[in-house]
Amino acid sequence: MAQKVGFIGLGAIGRPMAVHVAKHFDTMVWNRTAERARSFAKQTGAAATEDLAALASWADVVITCLPTSAEVREVVERIDGAWRHGQLLVDCTSGDPAGSRAIAEQLAAAGVDFVDAPVSGGTSGAEAGKLTVMLGGTDAAAARAQEVVRVFAAKVVHVGPVGTGHALKALNNALLAINIQASGEALAALVKLGVSGAKAVEVINASSGRSNVTENLIPERVLSRAWPRTFRLALLDKDVGIALKVLQDTGVPHDAIGVAKQAYGDARAALGEEADHVELIKEIEKAAGVEIR
Ligand code: NDP
Repeated sequence: MAQKVGFIGLGAIGRPMAVHVAKHFDTMVWNRTAERARSFAKQTGAAATEDLAALASWADVVITCLPTSAEVREVVERIDGAWRHGQLLVDCTSGDPAGSRAIAEQLAAAGVDFVDAPVSGGTSGAEAGKLTVMLGGTDAAAARAQEVVRVFAAKVVHVGPVGTGHALKALNNALLAINIQASGEALAALVKLGVSGAKAVEVINASSGRSNVTENLIPERVLSRAWPRTFRLALLDKDVGIALKVLQDTGVPHDAIGVAKQAYGDARAALGEEADHVELIKEIEKAAGVEIR
């Protein structure tokens, strides 16, 4: 059966995901800044609404892509009486596991299923329709969510019950954060020793220390001095905080992630809410008194 999809949150990554949704399904969008929803509708042929309840009562499946679980909860509460039995909420926010479980419980009372479906692959992956999506929910709800999220994904994996998608996403991003920090520190030291950033990265990328950070992010953003803004450092700081909480709750040592949380928190305070995640390296450069080139 053709699904009607309501999409909430046309931000840096939500918008390109919604473009794919609108190509495959009858789609209605809502965005806090209504003008963004209107211009999306003009460009894609989707419907736009300023009324969250109207979107929810029209859609079979609702997708949210908002900063944190707190905003998802806010939206779910604003929709309140308009939820219908048999609907599905697919939350593509990088949210927190406990927040997701609470939202799922609240929706279950109205007969609405919930799947956490955070994504990785960045804005370029979203544009290409090649994101990785990790699903947390029951088998039946995850299978239904997969039918929709596959339109913007190269890989969809059902990882466990509600909340596990968000836990996995936060821990993946903690690994990204640690890689950015460690790579920035290593390269700053090498540049101070007279090794060019480009040569250092060439060697690391042919050696065991290589990662997505050294293979892609540093050449494209740091060595080039381009510093594009695609994923806010504030959001990565939020993800590292969620990861830290997951480790604390599961009773696992969290030394490395604890150090990263401190560094990203400090960088967020220094650089503000709009800085890109890779700009942490600007703080390392500043402290080291060197530019990685
Ligand atoms: P942005 O900050 O670019 O966009 C946030 C979206 O949420 C906007 O549509 C914004 O509306 C909306 N919003 C913010 N506050 C509220 C609120 N109180 N009520 C309703 N809507 C609100 O974030 P991204 O698109 O980058 O990220 C969205 C999620 O995806 C985050 O959880 C992030 O961690 C995750 N993510 C992002 C990636 C990336 O590369 N950018 C990669 C993978 C995951 P408005 O237009 O009015 O500001």
